[in-house]
Amino acid sequence: MPERLSRVAIVGAGFSGTLLAVNLVRHDGPDALLIARGDSFGRGVAYGTAHADHLLNVRAANMSALPDAPAHFADWLARRDPAATPASFVPRATYGAYLGELLDDADRAAGSRLTRRRGRVVSARPDAYGLTLRFADGGQERADALVLATGNLPPHPPPGLDVDRLGDAYVADPWGARVADGLGPDDTVLLLGTGLTMVDVALALDAAGFGGRIVALSRRGLLPRAHGDAAPGRLAERPPARAVPLLRAVRARADAIGWRGAVDELRPHTQDLWRAAGPAERSRFLRHLRPWWDVHRHRLAPEVAARIEAMRAAGRLELRAGTPVGCEAGALLYRPRGSGRVERLAAARVVNCTGPAGDATRSTDPLLRRLLADGLARPDAFRLGLDVDAHGRLIGSDGAPQPRLYALGPVTRGAHWEITAVPDIRTQVWHLARRLSNAHWVGGEGL
Ligand SMILES: Cc1cc2nc3c(=O)[nH]c(=O)nc-3n(C[C@H](O)[C@H](O)[C@H](O)COP(=O)(O)OP(=O)(O)OC[C@H]3O[C@@H](n4cnc5c(N)ncnc54)[C@H](O)[C@@H]3O)c2cc1C
Repeated sequence: MPERLSRVAIVGAGFSGTLLAVNLVRHDGPDALLIARGDSFGRGVAYGTAHADHLLNVRAANMSALPDAPAHFADWLARRDPAATPASFVPRATYGAYLGELLDDADRAAGSRLTRRRGRVVSARPDAYGLTLRFADGGQERADALVLATGNLPPHPPPGLDVDRLGDAYVADPWGARVADGLGPDDTVLLLGTGLTMVDVALALDAAGFGGRIVALSRRGLLPRAHGDAAPGRLAERPPARAVPLLRAVRARADAIGWRGAVDELRPHTQDLWRAAGPAERSRFLRHLRPWWDVHRHRLAPEVAARIEAMRAAGRLELRAGTPVGCEAGALLYRPRGSGRVERLAAARVVNCTGPAGDATRSTDPLLRRLLADGLARPDAFRLGLDVDAHGRLIGSDGAPQPRLYALGPVTRGAHWEITAVPDIRTQVWHLARRLSNAHWVGGEGL
């Protein structure tokens, strides 16, 4: 980066954006303008939940926001809750409080170098001297660079489903307040998806006293696995780069040390494996292995897994494998896995729990649409998010990196694959903060 930046605008104040702002001011980088769209600073989708049943799915020991202080969160937690240990899975709301405090502390120490602004950014136009951000409220701001920290792209309805036919029964936002409103004990709620989002919604329905039946449907009907006690080991040598030999190696290790250890050992290598894989290999992984990878890699806290099992045992939660093929008023039509017939499933509510989508071209977000329309951004080859280069710069429609536009967090999944959980994002933030600061801090995990 040739030019010394004096002000960086960060769109999105969830984990990624908040942490970038904290790192910029903490390490004497450029001033930070942190922009939140209505919701609170430092929470975002994951840690903004008020629900005590929504637990972190990573142990406290591995949730420090600061790669150069690995025990930062565990120490903070110990001061706040003496009963918690580094092995605890605490409520996500507690983690939101931690991030909020981290931001407040950075804010106090930074004085005027950190500015918080509420509003929805609708366009960003670079020029020779910087860029201009425009907001939906009519305001505008100047900055030298912009970082998109806008999180996962929201889920789309499953392909080919005319969800409008479900009318009010369809809930597009699984974290919305009305998931349990107005339901009776004879009602069925259908959850589309069987991953972590489905688990959140099933727990929320349970906590709200919903006594009816919950049916969760996905192509394979796979439920995320639970965490165990095993501490991750270290692979003695680099894992094979190609999908088939890799699968064989992981299976052999799983036989030797259990599947949790075998998957955890891969974790330090997954980003490198993804980057090294060619398009055919990536495509094979996404088509055949992704569902299995997701359920083994993104696990449930043991307490959460026990509650889900209890709901299943009581007949209150049922998992089905099948593909939705149509909607009618009050019902979803689906084809059970391995069957040619179509079944009808009546439901008072159908909640989209299919998790984050990645197809930026289907986004309704005005800023993203503007950037795509202006050729300043483009989707990555597998439609997992936005295309970025090795420094996190957005790649425009002409294939050239944009010198003033960056992206961070899950929206960069196409470049890194594994960029969802805190341990991955905090390292990405660290690298980007250094780059934007023209700095070469030492220390920090893996540096
Ligand atoms: C439900 C859930 C649970 C998770 N649990 C864990 C866990 O236990 N452990 C773990 O390590 N990881 C977990 N993760 C993963 C991870 O921590 C998150 O994905 C991470 O918090 C991503 O943060 P983010 O800031 O990139 O995105 P978000 O938290 O989504 O924040 C993005 C923000 O940008 C705002 N925004 C978007 N567009 C605009 C715009 N145009 N103008 C202004 N603002 C805008 C949005 O309103 C939002 O607040 C979880 C994720 C989810 C979704």
